[in-house]
Amino acid sequence: MSERPPITLRDLAAIDVAQLRGVGDKKRTALAAFDVHNVLDLVTNYPRRWVDRTNEARIADLVPGEEALVLVTVRTVTKRMTRNRRTMVNVQVGDGSGRMHVVFFNQPWRERQLKEGLQIALYGKPDTYRGGLQMANPIVDLIGDRTGRIVPIYPQSEKVQLTTWEVASFVEEALRRCAERGIADPVPVEVTDRLDLMARGQAFASIHAPESMREKEAARRRLAFDELLRVQLVLVLRKRELERTSRGIAHDVDGELVQRFLEALPYPLTGAQRRAIAQIEVDLATPQPMHRLLQGDVGAGKTVVAVSTLLAAVQGGHQGALMAPTEVLAEQHATGVRELLGELRVPDPGNLFGDRPLRVELLTNRVTGAERKDVLAGLADGTVDIAIGTHALIQEGVEFSSLGAVVVDEQHRFGVEQRAALRDKSGGHVPDVLVMTATPIPRTAAMTVYGDLDVSVLDELPPGRTPIVTKWANGPMLEAEVWADVRHEVGEGRQAYVVCPLIDESEKLEVASAEETFQRLSNDELKGLRLGLLHGRLTPAEKEMTMSLFRSGQLDVLVATTVIEVGVDVPNATVMVILDADRFGIAQLHQLRGRVGRGTHESMCWLVTQEHDGGNPRVEALVASTDGFELAEVDLDLRGEGTLMSTMQKGRSDLKLASLRRDRQLVAKAREAAFEIVDADPGLEQHPVLLDELDLLFTDEDEDFLAKS
Ligand code: ADP
Ligand code: MG
Repeated sequence: MSERPPITLRDLAAIDVAQLRGVGDKKRTALAAFDVHNVLDLVTNYPRRWVDRTNEARIADLVPGEEALVLVTVRTVTKRMTRNRRTMVNVQVGDGSGRMHVVFFNQPWRERQLKEGLQIALYGKPDTYRGGLQMANPIVDLIGDRTGRIVPIYPQSEKVQLTTWEVASFVEEALRRCAERGIADPVPVEVTDRLDLMARGQAFASIHAPESMREKEAARRRLAFDELLRVQLVLVLRKRELERTSRGIAHDVDGELVQRFLEALPYPLTGAQRRAIAQIEVDLATPQPMHRLLQGDVGAGKTVVAVSTLLAAVQGGHQGALMAPTEVLAEQHATGVRELLGELRVPDPGNLFGDRPLRVELLTNRVTGAERKDVLAGLADGTVDIAIGTHALIQEGVEFSSLGAVVVDEQHRFGVEQRAALRDKSGGHVPDVLVMTATPIPRTAAMTVYGDLDVSVLDELPPGRTPIVTKWANGPMLEAEVWADVRHEVGEGRQAYVVCPLIDESEKLEVASAEETFQRLSNDELKGLRLGLLHGRLTPAEKEMTMSLFRSGQLDVLVATTVIEVGVDVPNATVMVILDADRFGIAQLHQLRGRVGRGTHESMCWLVTQEHDGGNPRVEALVASTDGFELAEVDLDLRGEGTLMSTMQKGRSDLKLASLRRDRQLVAKAREAAFEIVDADPGLEQHPVLLDELDLLFTDEDEDFLAKS
């Protein structure tokens, strides 16, 4: 008989837990409540923590009201009836550190179960009772013959009666039955050796029954790596496949249009801008379509990079498109880009003068009638060089003559379908795509969230900016100082923003609160100043009216909801006041703050909150740093990756142990390994087990989703 190959994850997934000894109908149902149906589910149902018996789980450490587990010895057991005829079993337990009273109601059999001298684990919520500690109806586990120093604690619930020891024993049996064939380890040995990773089979055993916390940690690291590697493999496979199968344009990056544009700028590029443009040009010059993310803090100067990308397409006779998430932003971009381009002319041999003016057109759903027809015709015949707009740009009925480069502003997901739509619009080739985001996310998180993109970073602000001084007005006493600052700045000829409290539930309430704030400030704190009000319920014409009054200095203070979060650029505004700042997230506060500090005058940002006794880590982080990347790290630390990953819920299903926060380095290593593996074996033919795992653990939808960022 030939030797059977090691057991794969797919093999494990094919075995129902009912096949394990001790798992009958009842336990099967209980396990199902934790989404454990098969043996793969079981062995990847990891302990939620591990208790080191020698120095944890002691009575002395219990805190009333907080659920905890203690390992104790039974001292005495007595039973009696209560007045309303319930049985009550009283148990005294103790460990080296103290004693505790345990009471069980309506569990008469506890008297027989719990004998003096027995070692048990109790899980419950201690209370104080008659000056001592008491637990009522805790979950009891008999430690029995489990002698390991480290006790794994599995997710438990009161409802389903499934003890941590039962789970442990099922896992133990499952792994014992795998022992003969062993568990397959499809990760190339070069990788596991280089990263000093424990064998996978050993890792499963060690994470469930470690001899030491160190062993547990090594096991966790190995299994977390596997999770991250699988995600990266999906992303890298997709990336490479796109590169292989899609025909792009090898752009002429040495043309003179870009050069003339850059030379005409009133300032030299920052080092970071030069680096980003160089990286982009390398991508543009190759025949594979670019798919790159440009991360840069507010004010870092992304627009110049975007425009030079579009012009690189234009100088080779193609077209460029800039896509913004909203019509207002598209309009602002159109104004800004036209200004930036100035009188730039495009070489045109067909013209008497040898060139013609560059043609930039706006296309949103607000552009209608004859104007729309004209723009559409220009896109189709190639006379429009740069189109700026919303998603309207890739809608049905919009044809480009030859779309060469697309810049997508602000992190709306630009997915597979959009790319396909672009390909259809541009004569079969795929345009080069640059996605810009002003919300930096930490590098390793970007590798997962935007895993099939290359990343360029603008990590340097243009010179001459005076950093924004940020202060926290903690409570009403300090608020007076805020309004005094606003008055002072207005007295100096500057302007201010006041951002009204964020109200999640309803725009209507938010508008009401903005109106109220506007009234109050007009009549009281800022009486005598010229105030304007901006919110989402105004018509576009009203908004534009208010904005232009503010821009031209005819308003001193703009009271607004978060509609000003992006795109508003008034260099003369030097004060930002954010009310109820603790309702905003770090990234949003940072975005809002970025509305000031855009000119040469020193700017300040006041974060106003109700009085806080303790600290407020988010507000304090903003006070401490103006660096978006640093703040992104803090944010990830504070929130965990939960929120970040919520945008990719599905692909997350396989990340049980790995944490983008804790495992930053492992993410980078996994990505590196994924490139290594895929570049040596693009179809994973030499790695059938690994390929099969991707197939098993990710649905098609996941794979699409992961690659969609
Ligand atoms: P972002 O889009 O990254 O928030 P912008 O492209 O709007 O930033 O640029 C912010 C401001 O900085 C603009 O007023 C722009 O003119 C200016 N700017 C951009 N690059 C430079 C530079 N290299 N030197 C000086 N000012 C710059
Ligand atoms: Mg290219």
